[in-house]
Amino acid sequence: MRLILLGPPGAGKGTQAQRLTEKLGIPQVSTGDMLRAAVAAGTPLGREAKAYMDRGALVPDGVVIGIIRERLKAPDCARGYILDGFPRTVAQAEALGETLEAMGTPLTAVLSLTVDPEELVRRLAGRRSCGSCGAAYHLDTAPPRRPGRCDRCGGELFQREDDREETIRKRLAVYRDQTAPLVVYYRGRGLLKEVDGRGEIADVFARVCRLLGAEG
Ligand code: ADP
Ligand code: ADP
Ligand code: ZN
Repeated sequence: MRLILLGPPGAGKGTQAQRLTEKLGIPQVSTGDMLRAAVAAGTPLGREAKAYMDRGALVPDGVVIGIIRERLKAPDCARGYILDGFPRTVAQAEALGETLEAMGTPLTAVLSLTVDPEELVRRLAGRRSCGSCGAAYHLDTAPPRRPGRCDRCGGELFQREDDREETIRKRLAVYRDQTAPLVVYYRGRGLLKEVDGRGEIADVFARVCRLLGAEG
């Protein structure tokens, strides 16, 4: 399966992508995680991306399209993947379409997670992320077993710079202006499946699985 998880910041894309990865045995491809790794490693790419990310803006299309083109060629993507946080603009969606057409591997579906804005702010403000594997936790709704430590890998949890109140508002506006048009874009191509992203993580996952025709 080749899937896109679409939705505003905080909708639960990463959380659901991680569960799907475990269930389907295909990788989660998160441009946000790849960019944060580049920032942490201090590569030229990371140095370029950091200023955009810290202020909640999108990294230029050419940069992320280049990263994704490389990533999708890797052997572990041959059986499918879950795109989390890409595409985020119509230009990225167009570039992805061209790449997949050239590879002869069309998308299976685009899952659009919907959650109301107040809940998004609550989720992002309480999010804590693993510095090693990128897994997301929440202080109230999804706490780790040991405070400050990742259940999966033992890595240290931290609050992302862009999960602070002012930047959260900016990112939600960027989503509305630049990414939300992709809902219409993929609906027009017959690929869109809308998922109610409210409620418990396990219940959302069951809805996702039902839509994909897989058991929850
Ligand atoms: P969230 O999961 O909260 O929506 P991400 O981890 O996907 O956030 O992205 C964090 C930041 O990384 C974005 O605000 C943006 O600066 C950058 N980024 C990630 N993916 C993309 C993309 N596809 N295009 C442009 N910028 C991106
Ligand atoms: P995204 O990748 O779309 O930005 P995340 O998967 O990182 O979103 O989730 C954002 C925050 O909300 C995290 O702290 C996560 O633990 C929490 N979260 C995710 N899904 C739910 C849910 N269904 N109910 C409550 N909290 C959730
Ligand atoms: Zn971890």
